[in-house]
Amino acid sequence: MNYLDNAATTKPSKRVAEVVNEIISQNYGNPSSLHGLGAQAEKILTNARKSIATNFRCRPDEIYFTSGATESNSIAIQGACRANHRSGNKIITTTIEHPSVLMTIKHLEKNGFEVIYVSPNSDGVITVEDVCKNVDERTILVSVMQVNNETGLCLPVEQIAKAVKQKNSKTIVHVDGVQGFTKINTYLSSSHRGIDLYSFSGHKIHALKGVGGLYIKSKTKISPIVFGGEQEKGIRVGTQNTLGIATLGEATEEAFANQKNRLMHYCLLANHLKDRLREIGGIRINSLENPQSVDYIINFSVLGIRSEILLHYLEKHKIYVSSGSACSSRSKNSSILTAFGLLQEIVDSAIRVSFSESTTVEQIDELVDTIILARNRFIKK
Ligand code: PLP
Repeated sequence: MNYLDNAATTKPSKRVAEVVNEIISQNYGNPSSLHGLGAQAEKILTNARKSIATNFRCRPDEIYFTSGATESNSIAIQGACRANHRSGNKIITTTIEHPSVLMTIKHLEKNGFEVIYVSPNSDGVITVEDVCKNVDERTILVSVMQVNNETGLCLPVEQIAKAVKQKNSKTIVHVDGVQGFTKINTYLSSSHRGIDLYSFSGHKIHALKGVGGLYIKSKTKISPIVFGGEQEKGIRVGTQNTLGIATLGEATEEAFANQKNRLMHYCLLANHLKDRLREIGGIRINSLENPQSVDYIINFSVLGIRSEILLHYLEKHKIYVSSGSACSSRSKNSSILTAFGLLQEIVDSAIRVSFSESTTVEQIDELVDTIILARNRFIKK
């Protein structure tokens, strides 16, 4: 199998599978229980919080576990707006956010919040200035993604946060860090005047699905959006997914330990793929060059073949790619690619390829060779 859809989800690592086996049979207590089995489960949470906090250089008590980034985004955005609406009602975001951000903000817009949507400029990027020029004394939240899940575009989130705070120190800055987490170093120390909230997810980094987290800088005012117990200091109530959280901690450690080699490997794969695509011609590469885009998500259009036709053709050859983000793949076109200002023909034929550390050059060659076969079959000369 040639799996090239790692931005949608990743295969759990060997170590993660071992952790699952250990915990599922031996460490099944409820972390809120007062007996020894509960304490053992609580230790899983403590260790995972420490692993993540060390890599962010923040405090462990600033890490909150959730069911994934969709929930983290919702808590961050709704929670910040509910807790701070007395200070203003203006939100700034971009047109290229993941639906879990865009739909949450659209919901708030319907309920009286004013929203400014920033689009990529004619170079296909979003600059610090594009976001910050709209910040004023009524702006309570800026929510921007770190890496776009469809094209790999990188946003300068740390600089954006700094510039936002210079204009209005009370504005809360949220970053959807899902596609950058463990690949781009983000320092979230409570002493920095920068990012206040950062969402991340387990299944994009070889942990299990259904687990994620939210960094909440200490003293940031957030209201809960679900009520019940006291878990995660009342911000995300409900019994914690200890199994998932253990895998998230483990996968975070593994990812950071091996980060340098992985990034070099992605660079090699990206260059090889782009070289080969340029060689065969008739392809438009929609991702920008590094450093504006990351090397592990490459979006391109095979002109003349609709994405879904190519996707199914590749699948018959056991090559798995995406025609856009996995969660919007059932809707007809990628509205995100349209937001990048791409022509309809390019949007209709766009393919997203995303790597993991086990992706090989041979797999890239197999992909390109199969695209050549597809073109011979579907494009009339
Ligand atoms: N944000 C981005 C940028 C994503 O790519 C995704 C998943 O594809 C999410 C949020 C949602 O993450 P989860 O699947 O953990 O809910």
